[in-house]
Amino acid sequence: MSNPDSTAGLVHATEGGWRVPGIANLHSHAFQRAMAGLAERQTHPEDSFWTWREIMYRFAARMDPDSTYAVATQLYAEMLEAGYTTVCEFHYVHHQPDGRPYADPAAMSKALIAAARDTGIRMTLLPVLYMTGGFDGRELSARQRRFGHGVEDFLRLHEDLRALQDASLRIGCAFHSLRAVPEAAMREVLAALPTDAPVHIHIAEQVGEVQDSLAVRNARPVEWLLREFPVDRRWTLVHATHLTQEETRGIASSGATVAICPTTEANLGDGLFPLRDYLQAGGRWGIGSDSHVSVSPVEELRWLEYGQRLVTRHRNIAVTAHSPSVGETLLRGVLDSAADATGFGQATDEVLLDAAAPALAGAMADDVVDRWLFAGNRPLVKQVRVAGRTVVSEGRHVEGEAIARRYGETLRRLLRD
Ligand SMILES: [Zn+2]
Repeated sequence: MSNPDSTAGLVHATEGGWRVPGIANLHSHAFQRAMAGLAERQTHPEDSFWTWREIMYRFAARMDPDSTYAVATQLYAEMLEAGYTTVCEFHYVHHQPDGRPYADPAAMSKALIAAARDTGIRMTLLPVLYMTGGFDGRELSARQRRFGHGVEDFLRLHEDLRALQDASLRIGCAFHSLRAVPEAAMREVLAALPTDAPVHIHIAEQVGEVQDSLAVRNARPVEWLLREFPVDRRWTLVHATHLTQEETRGIASSGATVAICPTTEANLGDGLFPLRDYLQAGGRWGIGSDSHVSVSPVEELRWLEYGQRLVTRHRNIAVTAHSPSVGETLLRGVLDSAADATGFGQATDEVLLDAAAPALAGAMADDVVDRWLFAGNRPLVKQVRVAGRTVVSEGRHVEGEAIARRYGETLRRLLRD
């Protein structure tokens, strides 16, 4: 049964297929694409996020501007092929491995910007401020040194990057986490930056982080942030996994977006975001592929819903009074947060789904999104246009072969060294 109202603006039948809007990927650490699948062996009986982080640090230590460019172009081409048309790159590997800045302190940022421009994905680059190794203000460890900045150097980097902004590049700002940025530095940076720059922060991903915050600040991370800072639509809280009901309602009423990263959160054993309570409170949210163990909005959205079904032992959780379709509710949620979380406003990028694919046989406008998100594993994205430029044709990025070749050479070199 067709109900044109429920799909208004979401799905359009065109000659070449079903047109749906491009999706914003709200959280990415591009270099981690190179280690996807390489942290799946037990190193300790109590393996956790914290032991994974050691492997991640070893990978981060190998990256330079050239390899960052090669890995990011592969990643961004894969994102476009999957239907992501904007990426928020949460970028903290700024300096040389020993912590000294490159001759051009923005060299790593520029490698990421070049990768975005060459693949055609919109980018909100979020240079990350990273200053301390814990809530107690301890110094960065040797492995963290290449992530670190003082406030002044950080603001200088930010200014240099802002000069590069154009129609496809926005420069936002990220605080790595409350454990990595002292309160005074957060205030200083926010006071110095343009008031329309999106602000992203990792928060409450790990129970250990919540415990440390309670011990040092006598408040949980989200509780503390909402109390101390004017959190509003400009803010994106990444993960926000471990929340009390009060915190859940507090984020929802602030207007901030939560960037949920279901496949990474599952891979790292983080925990499950309380989606049902948050939706009931009217909260805004989007998705991110974060560590890139999966580069697919289909898989992120599918597992966002499936996680809820598994713990509640019910079906069809992500719905609203106006939208009984789970797929459409999920897609609409992602679209509603994108303008503020990316800083691009309403982008008009187009993704064309293959109407000839068996998964869409006999489709009607109001079942296309549910089928796309919940039926099968074959990618259905056929064509993608970003800002009027065709970047994916017949399911492949237009430069995909050359990009994959360079990525292969880079990976062989990185893994050998
Ligand atoms: Zn992250």
